[in-house]
Amino acid sequence: MDCLFCGIVNGDIPATKRYEDELVIVFDDINPQAPVHQLIIPKQHIATTNDIATEHHALLGHMLQTASVMAKQLEIADDGYRVVTNCNAGAGQTVFHLHMHLLGGRPMHWPPG
Ligand code: AMP
Ligand code: ZN
Repeated sequence: MDCLFCGIVNGDIPATKRYEDELVIVFDDINPQAPVHQLIIPKQHIATTNDIATEHHALLGHMLQTASVMAKQLEIADDGYRVVTNCNAGAGQTVFHLHMHLLGGRPMHWPPG
């Protein structure tokens, strides 16, 4: 399968990894939109949020908890941060392997646009 983030999971594509366990990898976004911009991805290929099934519930909870743990480590948790998942092209998704953006280190605006 020709998937950029599967390439990062299997080591074919380099990334600045910040955390890894049996379920997820966290790495720096190559085009950061905030002082902190990391991506939390499952090692398992899931294309979009439209493909989330009951069997993924624990994995999704773990991804969100990982974002929270990273935010505390990066000392952005108290000021505040944003966790974003874009679904499909209309929302700006460009890599079709599920990921959560962890954004922080600056004030966030709403609506995001
Ligand atoms: P999205 O537009 O929500 O699908 O997010 C995809 C994100 O992946 C974008 O923020 C890109 O900057 C980021 N990205 C693309 N290629 C790489 C890469 N090789 N390493 C790290 N981040 C990447
Ligand atoms: Zn993939």
